Amino acid sequence: LNTIIATVNRLVEFTDQYQKGITGIERFNEVMNLRSDIFDREDAKELKNVKGSIVFDKVFFKYPDQAEDDPWILDNISFNINVGENIALVGPSGAGKSTITKLIPRFYEVNKGEIRVDGININNLTLESLRNNIGIVQQDVYLFGGTIRENIEYGKENTTDEEIIEASKLAGAYDFIMDFPYGFDTYIGERGVKLSGGQKQRISIARVFLKNPPILILDEATSSLDNTSEAIVQESLEKLTKGRTTLTIAHRLSTIINADSIIVLTEDGIAERGSHHELLDKKGVYYKLYNSNNEDLFG
Ligand code: ATP
Repeated sequence: LNTIIATVNRLVEFTDQYQKGITGIERFNEVMNLRSDIFDREDAKELKNVKGSIVFDKVFFKYPDQAEDDPWILDNISFNINVGENIALVGPSGAGKSTITKLIPRFYEVNKGEIRVDGININNLTLESLRNNIGIVQQDVYLFGGTIRENIEYGKENTTDEEIIEASKLAGAYDFIMDFPYGFDTYIGERGVKLSGGQKQRISIARVFLKNPPILILDEATSSLDNTSEAIVQESLEKLTKGRTTLTIAHRLSTIINADSIIVLTEDGIAERGSHHELLDKKGVYYKLYNSNNEDLFG
């Protein structure tokens, strides 16, 4: 426990997004996988040799702090994602897109129904083996006070220099890291160098490359990066998603158009699913969202 507290104490939040969080510590714990009310079941199994299919089967969910008579946030949601499929999740703000992504690593547990990875109910898996197989790239990047190397290695033990270099190159982070006098040993955080938003993103992407999980959850940044950074981040994210089951909360039209399939989530549930062209042809909710030109409509 002391190590956990020490780790938490060491954490430095770099973005102002943090201020907007639900509660600081709640977000923190989410990111650090430290929510204390979710445990392994007694007979929990290890998730092994993961292929990466995901199924939501009649999922009902509301947050633990909600009242019993509050409506469901997710009300009977079902969908499948096949192995290696790249899915864009779109829909208006508040529809429940982030909520869906939080349930997959079991940051919260469903109230009814089940979520399966490779056909196994995730509630029957150990949290560690489940989360080891899921990579998360968020809009607000969480780095901690420590060296760049420690930040990339986070959560993975016994990594070699070669692996760290390779992951940084894939993430488009290697060059700027090497520009610092101490390279990978450069200290970041309050007492160290300050990184730009794009550099932080690339470090967090390097972390995921190193972890090499079969399942990815991406929360696409809405803006805030300069054009060069944005292009590098996009390019490395494209590499990252190759060959992995990916669920992206998508805001950019290019991501949405390139997805194998788009799931359109509204407050009433999943309205539609299909490719960009299929959904435009349907002239339904997606068509309206697309033609409305309202930035908010893609969440
Ligand atoms: P956005 O695009 O704005 O991020 P979203 O589609 O991702 O929206 P969610 O963030 O999943 O939507 O939120 C769905 C609903 O759940 C909203 O009504 C939100 O207020 C509520 N909600 C989100 N987090 C919590 C929480 N920790 N406790 C209670 N309610 C929450």
